[in-house]
This record gives sequence, C-alpha cells and structure tokens, in this order.
Amino acid sequence: MDGSTLRVAVAGAGIGGLAAAAALRRAGFDPQVYEQAPVLSEVGAGLHLAPNGSRLLHRLGLAGRLREVAVRPQTLQVRLWDSGRTVAAQPMGAAWEAEFGAPHYTLHRADLHRILADQVPAGSVHLGLRCTGFAEDADGVRIDFADGTSRRADVLVGADGVHSVVRRALAGDERPVFAGTAAVRGVVPAELVPDLSAEHMYIWTGPDARVLACPVRAGREMSFVAVVPDTGTAGDSWSRRADPAGLAAAFADWDPAVRRLLAAATGAGHWSLFDREPLARWSTARTTLLGDAAHPMLPHYGQGASQAFEDAVVLASCLAGRGEGPEGVAGALARYQELRLEHTSRVRAESLGGGSQRLGGRREGEVSSMVQDIAWVQRHDVEREPAPAAAR
Ligand code: FAD
Repeated sequence: MDGSTLRVAVAGAGIGGLAAAAALRRAGFDPQVYEQAPVLSEVGAGLHLAPNGSRLLHRLGLAGRLREVAVRPQTLQVRLWDSGRTVAAQPMGAAWEAEFGAPHYTLHRADLHRILADQVPAGSVHLGLRCTGFAEDADGVRIDFADGTSRRADVLVGADGVHSVVRRALAGDERPVFAGTAAVRGVVPAELVPDLSAEHMYIWTGPDARVLACPVRAGREMSFVAVVPDTGTAGDSWSRRADPAGLAAAFADWDPAVRRLLAAATGAGHWSLFDREPLARWSTARTTLLGDAAHPMLPHYGQGASQAFEDAVVLASCLAGRGEGPEGVAGALARYQELRLEHTSRVRAESLGGGSQRLGGRREGEVSSMVQDIAWVQRHDVEREPAPAAAR
C-alpha cells in the first residue's frame, strides 16, 4: 500500500474532517469524506484562528484565501462592562505575529469551511451519508450508513464532531460534561455598530457574564459571543435561537455599545457548553478520531479548530511515514494518538477555567497573564517540534 492506494475514509465534513482531507491529499492520499448533511454548509458565527492553526493553513497554501475573508485584529481591547471604558489594550496584529510566528485571524466559520471545502474535489465528498457504525476485519474497515449502505476503506477517521458515532463505537458511551454556561453567538453588519471599530477585538467582563466581539468577513460584520449562566437543558445545537427579549434584559445595565451589539443581532444562536473527559485511547488498528470527536473542549481558549488542524497534519504525516502492511497502519494510528492525545488533553484541561474567563477586566496584568497562559499553545508548531510542556 503506498500513499495513493491506502484507502482513507473520513466521517464528517466539518472544519476538522475537511482539514484532514486537505492534509491527507497533500501527503499523497485520496481520502473519501462521508458527511451526513445533504449539502455542504456551515452555520455559526465568528471563530478565532490562532497562530498554531493559521501557520498550518498557510502551509497548505491558504494564506491568500484567508486574507480575503479574515481580519487580523490590531488590539484586544478590554472594557469595563458597565461604563465601557477601555482598561487594557493588548497589541495583536503584527506584534502577535512576531511573537507567535503566524497571524491570529478572526473569521466567519462558514468562510473557513468554504476555503477548506475548496481543497477537496467535490467527487471525494459524499453527502447525505450518516455513519452509524463500523466493523474492522483483516482486510480493512467497513463503514455503515443510515441508508443501509456501507463502504470499505483501509483506515477510518472519525471527524464527526462532539456527538461522534465513531467515538461511541470505538470508546463506548460517556456522558458530556456540562459547563454551567451557554454561548450566545451572532453576527451583525458592522455599520449597525459604528462605535466598534472592525480593526479590533473587544471583551467586556461583567459579574456573571462576559461578551467578546470580533470582526469577520473582511471587517464587514462583527461577530459576538456572550457567555452566560445556563441550565444546559437546551443541548449544544445551533437549532436553538436565543431569546432577544431575554438577552436584552440580561444585559440591560451593560455598556450601551454591548446593548446595541446584541440588539442588532437577528437570529443569534444559543449553545449550551459541554465537553467530555479525555479518552484513554482513540486509535484502534484501523480507526481513529480527530477534532471534536477526539477531544471536545470548551471554547474559552479559542482552540477547537486549531487543535483539529494540528491533528490533521500529524495524522497525515504518520500515515505517510507508516511501515508495511496492516501493522504499519496500526502503528501509524498509534503514533498519531501518542503525539496528540496528551497535548489535546492538556489544552482541554486548561481551557476549562482559562483564557478570557480569567479576565476581571480591570487590570493590565490580567491580560498579560492570560496571554502567558495560552502562549505555549499558540507558539506550538506541530510540524517542527514535539508537543511542548505547558507554561505552568
Ligand atoms: P464539527 O464542526 O462539529 O463537524 C462535524 C461534522 O460531522 C459536521 O459536518 C456533521 O454534520 C458531521 N457529522 C456528524 N455526525 C456524523 C455522522 N454520524 N456521519 C457523518 N457525518 C457526521 N474553535 C476555535 O478554534 N476558535 C474559536 O474561536 C472557537 N469558538 C467556539 C465557540 C463556541 C461557542 C463553540 C461551541 C465552539 C468554538 N470553537 C472554536 C470550537 C470549534 O468550533 C470546533 O472545535 C470545530 O468546529 C470542530 O470541528 P469538527 O470538524 O471536529 O466538528
């Protein structure tokens, strides 16, 4: 089996699955992607693409496409939740790029998804096929779908998100862990919030909630996420819309700029925040996991997508460098797990209480300690060095 004849199947054409397909193609494979949705699309709002992720996309030749739609914010402005006074301004832009070796972008999830989808031939993405399980045998792996059909491959990559069927079949059923909060996310035209410059990112930290805003769509839109207390009964799905009246009431005494931002959003999504305990293993002889299927994490480090990109290039490199026969495949998947499981578990653990959650919003020092917290994650170059030790 050389690169071109190893049949790799990817379940899920989200950000992680498409990145895996792009990285596998660069490594000489011809992966086939199976997606449950009938059309290839992405919903949601803004996404932070940190340097550890952006450097990998640049190496896939995507810097030009990213620059068309993404923004490289100049500063992160920390504002008092009630008066809106700016109390700290963390340089981003060129300073961040010099520090971490690649840009920090903010962009719309749908734009990133489209860029990644364009890297995979349409004929390799098979829509309307919901994976229901898999079975390994001496000759490979059979992938079963809800329509009663099945496909065969030499390797199956489960990139089917936080509710992964492949994960459940591989590791058993474990319950998601509810964080006690929800993310309310939306996007508004920039002209409706003229007091927020599309050159910057913003964070307001209040007593029980915080609001982050960042420019997307080349600055034509502002995306926001409000992290609020929640009961967790709604589940983690874009299908639940935020209640505009409830949102306005919850932020009634906040900075008028926050109130205008939230009021301008039509159709914000309400997403209860869950993650899962790390798995003890995520690879078998023929099957492995990637992205949220492998290591769902809370969004406070803005790392879910970037960790999936790291997975993608490491997996492709392990498969490209595998030994002979089925043992070579099993060894490559074990090596991939070895290189990624501990690192992603650590990022997940730190993101539970870290990132923007540490900002009280009143002192410069809090911002620099937040930057210090995440530096080891963002500086990491997964193609050049083994997983780094955490800063603390
Ligand atoms: P998904 O994007 O969930 O894709 C899974 C795909 O698999 C979907 O297309 C789905 O339809 C398909 N699928 C599911 N089941 C099946 C099946 N059985 N068969 C076939 N197909 C299937 N990350 C960042 O890097 N930066 C951020 O700023 C950031 N902000 C976030 C904010 C919030 C509020 C949340 C909740 C997450 C955030 N993330 C962020 C995390 C990031 O969105 C995820 O880590 C990333 O989307 C994971 O991609 P994925 O491909 O693994 O999973």
